[in-house]
Amino acid sequence: MKTKILALLKDSSDYISGQELCSRFGVSRTAVWKAVNQLKKEGFEIEAVQNKGYRLTGMQKDVLGKSELETRIGTRWCGRLVYYYAQIGSTNIQAKNLAEAGAGHGTLVVADMQTEGRGRRGRMWLSPAGTNVYFTLVLKPEFEPDRAAMLTIVMALSVAQAIGEVCGVAARIKWPNDIVVNGRKVVGILTEMSAEPDYIHHVVVGVGINVGEQEFPAELQDRAASLNVETGQCVSRAALIQKSMEYFEENYELFAEAGNLSGILAVYNGLLVNRNSVVRVLDPKGEYMGTAEGINENGELLVTLEDGSSRTVYAGEVSVRGIYGYV
Ligand code: ATP
Repeated sequence: MKTKILALLKDSSDYISGQELCSRFGVSRTAVWKAVNQLKKEGFEIEAVQNKGYRLTGMQKDVLGKSELETRIGTRWCGRLVYYYAQIGSTNIQAKNLAEAGAGHGTLVVADMQTEGRGRRGRMWLSPAGTNVYFTLVLKPEFEPDRAAMLTIVMALSVAQAIGEVCGVAARIKWPNDIVVNGRKVVGILTEMSAEPDYIHHVVVGVGINVGEQEFPAELQDRAASLNVETGQCVSRAALIQKSMEYFEENYELFAEAGNLSGILAVYNGLLVNRNSVVRVLDPKGEYMGTAEGINENGELLVTLEDGSSRTVYAGEVSVRGIYGYV
């Protein structure tokens, strides 16, 4: 109903009475009032005048949408075609469906809200409406399936660079798939692939960015954060998506050309939050500690153990923690 009210308001230069909205949608005045308030929270400026009704007077710079994004993104192929949803189960699942139905390399799926946002290994990703960024990029690479996990690295670097440019803060990468600001997680990345042993059908790379101020559940309060709170700014979600697409296109091309991460390795390692510090590697086969040295050109984390030996950590099943906490 919220979207339908907005469509009516957009089509009308005059006021639309609350009564008309109630009878059109068969709902109470309170329900209409709530929907209008939600629209206001999402950034639409709606005037409410007694005895006249509601009128759309403008929108804030943070409003997301297909046309807003498509007019901003000036890349060659990355994010040129946008599918936008006010609400979706999961942008990754939608992107997979679209890829199977023929959507091309670089198709971008964006949602204002996810009802089933997901993280790695069946974990959930909190995805409230009107405040954050949730997008998934469809890729149809020509390289071998064993390279696909490196796309997480390419995306992490691109989003960290985008945040740095848009917000002017030091966004650091927590290998392999998170970005932290001031030591707390603001971004999660989930890469999924459909492939045969030697052929990739498609890869979808999903990104969630916490932007607006929000209440995190108790277990996340000390490790999750939002860009607006950390920077004291009102960060534009559309700008974050736009810049992520621009950086991704550039980084992806360096990666695809080399067939590995050598072209972006130095920049990536420069943004690695745990570099040269002691980490706990949470490996399902057994936890251990060591000093994180950086990643290699295959995206594996190089860790030096106390006895001086080195280990190459593959991202698959592993999470990394600082010795005192999350980073
Ligand atoms: P970890 O971050 O613990 O190393 P992970 O990288 O495997 O784990 P992800 O797949 O990136 O985890 O994200 C899922 C986890 O992130 C959830 O289990 C939850 O702890 C946390 N989380 C969920 N939603 C958010 C959010 N909006 N912001 C920050 N953290 C979140």
